[in-house]
Amino acid sequence: MSKKTVIIAGGGVFGVTAAISLARRGREVTLIDPGQLPSPLAASTDISKVVRREYGTDTYYMELGERSIQQFKAWNEDWPEPLYHEVGLLLLSRGGMKPDSFEYESYQTLRQAGFDPERFNKESLKARAPAWNAEAFPDGFFHAPSGYAQSEKVLSQLLSIGESLGVEFREEEGLAGLLERDGRVFGLRTTKENEIQADQTLVAAGAWTGHLLGLTWGLWASGHPVFHLRPENPDLFRPECFPVFTADIAETGWYGFPINDDGVVKVARHALGRKIHPDEERVVTQDDHKELQKFLSFALPDLVTAEIVYTRLCLYSDTANGHFWIDEDPDRKGLFVAAGGSGHGFKFAPMLGDIIADVLDHKDFRERGRFAWRAGAAEFNNEEESRATHSK
Ligand SMILES: Cc1cc2nc3c(=O)[nH]c(=O)nc-3n(C[C@H](O)[C@H](O)[C@H](O)COP(=O)(O)OP(=O)(O)OC[C@H]3O[C@@H](n4cnc5c(N)ncnc54)[C@H](O)[C@@H]3O)c2cc1C
Repeated sequence: MSKKTVIIAGGGVFGVTAAISLARRGREVTLIDPGQLPSPLAASTDISKVVRREYGTDTYYMELGERSIQQFKAWNEDWPEPLYHEVGLLLLSRGGMKPDSFEYESYQTLRQAGFDPERFNKESLKARAPAWNAEAFPDGFFHAPSGYAQSEKVLSQLLSIGESLGVEFREEEGLAGLLERDGRVFGLRTTKENEIQADQTLVAAGAWTGHLLGLTWGLWASGHPVFHLRPENPDLFRPECFPVFTADIAETGWYGFPINDDGVVKVARHALGRKIHPDEERVVTQDDHKELQKFLSFALPDLVTAEIVYTRLCLYSDTANGHFWIDEDPDRKGLFVAAGGSGHGFKFAPMLGDIIADVLDHKDFRERGRFAWRAGAAEFNNEEESRATHSK
């Protein structure tokens, strides 16, 4: 019996993990992407992404984070080099941890789940992480079993696993249109004028997805500034005294990472971002720089004079409520979407592929509803505010 075929558009972490899981389930998988893989423009292609289970009161993402961390550790054992670094996570609070704040609710939820996060005050913050202006952050907590992953390298590893499973990767060839008949999608047309027919078509093109499928009312691209800094005093930013951090993130949006092997400290901002067309020029503006300096001057004074060696405007694939969009189009059977990472999808790389493959297998699973197809523009409006609570 011939294998069921799947064509995937998009070689970021959503597309590649789906390709691996579907190939393991016996599908014949082809994946196309207009870039070289990993694509430099992909959100997944980066030096680091936060990997954590701190998600406020959301126990589903907390448990998914927990399972992802265990799998990242297993990958560390199997892969040529460890790409997940468990350096700990510092959640800093300016106004003190209060009920309903992201920091307070994450702290409580972790403790209820049996974890042992370490609450700090000004003195203990000064002792643990002297780079911080402890006067500005009198409260918060440190949680050791969290950290970051070197996302571009993780994606490269996943691409080679996909290849070893027989996935056909076609680079520099993107989705140009769908092959449709009688409300059914049976494949796609590429930017090289090729027609690829398949039983199932999965569009996992990140920030481009909404634009490619006419869904920008509910799935849009937003730009977020990223800065790479070279500190004058690198010792202050080593992982043992400068873990991954979120600085009162629901209020300021700022988060960052310890110094890496290239002597770079990455600092970035998670907020509503700027709506942008994914093919537009991506610019980190003077205002972004000013906002960075404002943050550093009150929070991390030793970074104010650090050289900025690289900037990037990285694009989220956003949904109104911050939950991923993983489902079949009710009006175009055979067409599936997996996108909407909304700035927090990469950490779930170890779990994403099976979640997406379960959807293509029409399998039900806990919380499937949160990834379901959005009804339309109306639904968009009343979900806006809840998105802001989804941190990194
Ligand atoms: C600034 C920033 C910081 C982030 N920080 C974190 C973090 O700390 N922790 C975390 O867990 N997550 C984080 N995220 C979110 C995470 O990066 C994303 O959720 C995830 O990488 C999205 O993966 P993706 O596969 O959907 O999209 P992408 O990785 O963007 O991949 C989409 C792919 O689609 C391709 N494509 C484009 N057009 C077409 C076409 N026509 N046909 C076929 N393919 C096409 C692109 O070339 C690209 O390769 C962050 C995101 C950003 C932008």
